[in-house]
Amino acid sequence: MDYRKIMEDIYNEILPFADKGKQADYIPALAKVDPDQFGMCLKTIAGDEYPFMQADTRFSIQSIAKVFALAMGLSLKGESLWGKVGKEPSGTAFNSLVQLEIEKGKPRNPFINAGAIVVADILLTELDDAEGEFLRFVRALSGNDSVDYNMEVALSERQTGYLNAAIANLLKYHGTIENDIEQVLMFYFKMCSVEMSCRELANAFLAFTNHVPFDFAGYRLSQSRIKRLNAVMQTCGFYDEAGEFSYLVGLPGKSGVGGGIVAVYPMRYSVAVWSPRLNSRGNSVMGMKALELLTTATQESIF
Ligand code: GLU
Repeated sequence: MDYRKIMEDIYNEILPFADKGKQADYIPALAKVDPDQFGMCLKTIAGDEYPFMQADTRFSIQSIAKVFALAMGLSLKGESLWGKVGKEPSGTAFNSLVQLEIEKGKPRNPFINAGAIVVADILLTELDDAEGEFLRFVRALSGNDSVDYNMEVALSERQTGYLNAAIANLLKYHGTIENDIEQVLMFYFKMCSVEMSCRELANAFLAFTNHVPFDFAGYRLSQSRIKRLNAVMQTCGFYDEAGEFSYLVGLPGKSGVGGGIVAVYPMRYSVAVWSPRLNSRGNSVMGMKALELLTTATQESIF
């Protein structure tokens, strides 16, 4: 498959969408990002890498971090993790409070903010140095020791993170989280602030294609668990646009409001794409389009 040529064709086809949408401005530090950027990188299980345009520019991975946190949580807690957070699509916005109140503090899934805040709390309970361990794990997955938190972004989000603070308070009220609210929120914001490039993300997500045993920085997951983690990405990775992503792209994946999207074709490849302009659901406009065209052109999807 000539992925390089396919990416060039895709880029030409998505150019009309280049000025559609806008970057996440509810996090002040992200509002400053130049919206007119695009990068992509595909990596096959054979190790072939196809970087395209700004594949090496780092950006805020935001909710993509929730996949890393879930992987750690599952490795530490196994199936018992699902006692505190569900695995059903929410059909609501990533930061919605509505279901959380009705469902008495058990978030629908680990990829909406409420669920990821619960996973952050679990990691804080289980690990002596959760913040250090999270970095160690992501560095091992991406093969790059310079991957780091961006404290400007994390603090910027803390200053305006009123909804996430409300979510954490509701979780605490219902007894779903154990640790101090401020500590949990700050860890959650730090996870979201991690910066990685498309190449680093493609590298990291190659581990989720299930082609070799998952064992990174001491965190192990069985093939069966990786299969299930992919199932949660498929059904819950794009908030209230998860059905649309499944329909258009047909791969498990995860998006973030930094404009990144990562998708996995089990036993074949991982692909990361980034462009900061988002649609109304918080997903990258060009990123969604690029992946739709990729699986259409290659006829490679899980369906
Ligand atoms: N840090 C972001 C928030 O909590 C993550 C949201 C996202 O990427 O979807 O709002």
